[in-house]
Amino acid sequence: MRILVTGGAGFIGSEFVRRLLEADPRAAITVLDKITYSGVRENLAPVAGLPGYAFVHGDICDARTVNDVMSGHDAVVHFAAETHVDRSISGAAPFVRTNVVGTQVLLDAAVRHRVSKFVQVSTDEVYGSIDDGSWTEESPLAPNSPYAASKAGSDLLALAYHRTHGLDVSVTRCSNNYGHHQFPEKLIPLFITNLIDGRQVPLYGDGGNVRDWLHVSDHCRGIELVLHGGRAGEVYHIGGGTEITNKELTGLLLEATGHGWQMVRQVPDRKGHDRRYSLDFSRIRQELGYRPRISFVEGLADTVAWYVDNRAWWQPLKARAALS
Ligand code: NAD
Repeated sequence: MRILVTGGAGFIGSEFVRRLLEADPRAAITVLDKITYSGVRENLAPVAGLPGYAFVHGDICDARTVNDVMSGHDAVVHFAAETHVDRSISGAAPFVRTNVVGTQVLLDAAVRHRVSKFVQVSTDEVYGSIDDGSWTEESPLAPNSPYAASKAGSDLLALAYHRTHGLDVSVTRCSNNYGHHQFPEKLIPLFITNLIDGRQVPLYGDGGNVRDWLHVSDHCRGIELVLHGGRAGEVYHIGGGTEITNKELTGLLLEATGHGWQMVRQVPDRKGHDRRYSLDFSRIRQELGYRPRISFVEGLADTVAWYVDNRAWWQPLKARAALS
């Protein structure tokens, strides 16, 4: 099986590619990535010399490139996206372009080339916010940010291509990922790298927003299960099982880096900030045998250690994006 991985130079996509090629160094994988501000080609350095691996520098919105690249592939795992909610609030256009139009371009090419599986990687944010209980795969979509709305649009397009064209599509929706190689604008790596440098961290509002945290390697294992065993036209939740508030998370990061609460700067809340996300992931557990393996305590400690050891990876990215 030859797999096309879009967005494979990003945080989750690169973990997915490294993982597949570590398990089977002869696996056939093509990465298609535009290398936007969050794409890092060096994330794929460990696999760059392997015989089945190929990298194409290109845009998923470019129909000609996508059509050329799609030829000869049996499956698509689609990660490429604009991903940062704050950026979607200050400018939604790239989110609609890449997340909606880019997904449509890929789906058209997948139909044309008779691809046998298309995995659309998505997010719990498409459901909006939930005070109590957890969303099932049948919960209504009610996205609140332009990012989440663009992901909901791309999920609906992918499912429509299944119903209209018979393309074998599965959609995965996961909770907040964390781990090594995450671009340092996202909460966990931003806070860790600021604290390593003795700088304050910005906590939104009262810090009471609740997120479920999922280690990136557990997420990628879930995607692999869906790639090989997911039913066509179905949505699968991939959860981590660790719900905590941003304030509690901040406390853990302060403790891990040896700092106190004087390092926290409270900033006005994000516009339309969802209060709580929570996924019921019993479907993937029952059908495909998924369960998260990495405890949050262990995963967070490893993540902090990785950023301490890999300043050369994150410092230039932070400087280029002027993050503080
Ligand atoms: P990321 O921002 O780290 O990586 C995105 C990658 O996509 C980058 O390599 C970038 O260069 C590439 N890309 C962007 N626009 C492109 C385009 N037009 N053409 C080709 N490549 C393009 O993102 P991530 O955190 O790895 O997220 C990957 C996927 O997982 C996204 O679809 C995202 O919505 C989803 N997701 C992420 C999380 C999370 O917590 N990070 C949670 C739920 C879902």
